[in-house]
Formats: sequence, structure tokens, C-alpha cells
Amino acid sequence: NTTTNGKNGKSPISTDIPEAPSIITRDFIFDYLVVGAGFSGSVIADRLARHSGKKVLVVDKRNHIGGNAYDHYDDHGILVHKYGPHIFHTSSREVFEYLSQFTAWRSYEHHVLASVDGQLVPIPINLDTINKLYGMNLNSFQAEEFFQSVAEPREHIRTSEDVVISKVGQELYEKFFKNYTRKQWGLDPSELDKTVIARIPTRTNRDSRYFTDSYQAMPLHGFTRMFENMLNHPNIKVMLNTDYREIEKAIPCREMVYTGPVDEFFDCRYGKLPYRSLDFKHETHHTPVFQSAPVINYPNEQLYTRITEFKYLTGQEHSKTSIVYEFPKAEGDPYYPVPRPENQEIYKQYKALAESTPGVHFVGRLATYKYLNMDHCVAQALATYKQIAVKA
Ligand code: FAD
Ligand code: UDP
Repeated sequence: NTTTNGKNGKSPISTDIPEAPSIITRDFIFDYLVVGAGFSGSVIADRLARHSGKKVLVVDKRNHIGGNAYDHYDDHGILVHKYGPHIFHTSSREVFEYLSQFTAWRSYEHHVLASVDGQLVPIPINLDTINKLYGMNLNSFQAEEFFQSVAEPREHIRTSEDVVISKVGQELYEKFFKNYTRKQWGLDPSELDKTVIARIPTRTNRDSRYFTDSYQAMPLHGFTRMFENMLNHPNIKVMLNTDYREIEKAIPCREMVYTGPVDEFFDCRYGKLPYRSLDFKHETHHTPVFQSAPVINYPNEQLYTRITEFKYLTGQEHSKTSIVYEFPKAEGDPYYPVPRPENQEIYKQYKALAESTPGVHFVGRLATYKYLNMDHCVAQALATYKQIAVKA
């Protein structure tokens, strides 16, 4: 603390005041820690880095990016979705144009058949479904009358059971929805929020598309390639095989974006939120085509809910074909929040806690406990980014 400076003629300054302990103003290496490299985390990381010039560390405990939308070439060279069929569709131009920066697309409209009474018929239920199922030859007007004759109107539509029974009656409910839903969720449709089965419309025309959104397409080179492009930026570093808790103290960041399960973040202090899980059984068959539709749903006796044949989704040509069966279960990786009032009550408590946790942004299907499709996650993440950017 003694400075000498004889050059300007002043006498060397000597102070008796002891030096204040030096304050280490070490810069943060990263501005943001993004937990999870799925849609939600990758969109936010991209915007923070490319649009706001922030330095971002993305960590994921899995050994790959892409979250549940991850795809890869299996041992036979066929592009498969590790966590079950992911079909992109959106009615949001903003979302589609945003993602188009990172991928070219292949047009793809999804079709599903259901195995009912020994036949394969279109689902969503449409004119062809009832004609085939009941050996009829109705037109659209007659189909409308048919549905009206079997429908059992309910005053209040609260549950998934109410939704179906009030539209198509008990018999079609039992053939197509009751057991599929019991398998998928481990709950009766009467115990599930109406929004779950309301995802599946009923039609009196012959439209057999699963979705009717204005944009329906698959990333031309797969989802993972799209994620690579999103995360490929000098301001973004990606750390895989890492639970954020292992590094959050060692690598401090100014703020966090969290896309994992919200209850886990708070050590389940209000109890565990139920998330539904799945076992995936992947198989490759030595034949070019395995089944007559991209997805076949099995609403009844089988233990699995559906079988997906990936080449329909990806357009890949190959002499063999890879498929996946989905077997629902309660424990395991969290894939689906379970929409029902009692879970919403628990989530509300976590939501309040999340909102009062400074410096952490909760985004995505697991962190906001919402049954979001991929495009919804992109829209939600873009909206959250805008809020962050305003404050930053
Ligand atoms: P996720 O993809 O779950 O990503 C969260 C990431 O966080 C994970 O990679 C996880 O490993 C990581 N993580 C969690 N905790 C930690 C931690 N402590 N430390 C580090 N990392 C952590 N949507 C559609 O639009 N169309 C479809 O056809 C479709 N099909 C689907 C089929 C199935 C079987 C499933 C399960 C979902 C489907 N979805 C579909 C929904 C789609 O998967 C989700 O909307 C989307 O992938 C969610 O993205 P996310 O980033 O919010 O979450
Ligand atoms: N569902 C059903 N039978 C079917 C298809 C769907 O009962 O053949 C119900 C079931 O409860 C399912 C929900 O509708 O969980 C939503 O179906 P979707 O295909 O959208 O499910 P996801 O692709 O998200 O698993």
C-alpha cells in the first residue's frame, strides 16, 4: 500500500490506512445456466445467445440434446425417435418461421388407425370409421344424425369421459377411448381433465388427418440435427451427462432457466407431482413395411397403447423397418404431466414458489406442469425469453 512516484516530483505517498480487503470482481463466465436441452431449453439458449449476446451454459443429465424429441439412427441405420413418435404440427406462423431458421422441412400429414373389433379404422373417428365399423354407407348428414342418436348429452363437461360420451355415446367411448385412456394414464377418463381427450376430435367428413394445423411437417434431417443447429453458437456451451446440481455451485451463473420437473427443483416439499412414464420397446424387422399406417392405436386388450413405424414419419427409404411399442407406467422418466384437478392444486403451490424464486425462470412441459406439444413449448419459451430480455 505504499506507492512511490518520484517522477512527478511529489514525495512518495505513504498511507497508514490499512488496505481494504481486495474485492474480487471475477466476471461470471456464463450469464445463464439453462437446465435441459429439449425444446424449451434450446429455444431460450438460442435467443439469449444469438439475440441478446448472452453467454449460456446448457446442461442436461442425459447423454444427448433434444430432450424427448431426440432422434437418432439405430443400429440398422434407420432414423428413430428414442422417446416415441414426435410429429411436428402448429398453427403458429411465428413458431414455424422461428424453427425454419434451423431446419428445412419435409411435408408430412399424420394418419392413425385404431384396432377395434378386429378391424383397422381411422381415428379420430370420422365418417369412414363408423361406416366400416358398423357396415354402413352413411353420408356426412346421416353421420351427423347417427352421432346425435348415440350421443348422451351432459350438462357439465368436466372430465374426459364427459367429452366423449356427450359426443359419441357409450359404445364408441368404450371401443376407442376408455381402455386406451386407462392404460395410458392409469386413470379412468372420468378422473381426467376434459382437455386430455378433447385433443381428439370427432368428424362427420372423411378427413383422416390426426391434426388439422396449418403447418404440418417434419424436420428434413431429423429433430436432433435441428437442435444441433440451434445450439451451435460460440456463446453456447453444452454439458451433457450432468445434473445441474453437480455444477451449479462450481460454475455460478447470474440467472437460471429450468426446464426439468418443477417439484424436483423444490425437493418435492409439497409432495411429488405425478408424471406419467412409458417403456419403449424398439424393434427392427427385416421387411420394408411392418404395418399399414404410421401409427396404429390399440385401445383395448394389448398392454401397449400404440405401435409407430418410423419410416412413414421420416420418409426414409430402407430395406428394413423400425418400430416402437409404448407401454405406459407410473414410475420412470417423467413424460406426461397428469391433468386433473388435485394435481393442479399441488402444482399451484409450486407455481407460487417458482414465481417467488428470484433469478430462476421455469419453462416447458415439466417445469410448468402442462400437457404441451412441441410447438406450444417453443411459443412458451419465446414468450419467456421476451420477458427476460425486457428485464435484462
Ligand atoms: P423435455 O423434452 O422433457 O426436456 C427437459 C430436459 O431437461 C430433459 O432432456 C431432461 O433430461 C433435462 N433435465 C431434467 N432435470 C434435469 C436436471 N436436474 N439436470 C439436468 N437436466 C435435467 N409433441 C408434439 O408436438 N407432437 C408429438 O407428436 C408429440 N409426441 C410425443 C410423444 C411422447 C411419447 C411424448 C412423451 C411427448 C410427445 N410430445 C409431442 C411432447 C413433446 O415431447 C414435448 O412437448 C417437448 O419435447 C417438451 O420439451 P421440454 O424441453 O419442455 O421438455
Ligand atoms: N385417446 C384414446 N384413444 C385413442 C387416442 C387417444 O383414448 O385412440 C385419448 C387418450 O387418453 C390419450 C389422449 O386421448 O392420452 C390424447 O391422445 P394423443 O394421441 O394426443 O396423445 P399423445 O400423442 O400426447 O400421447
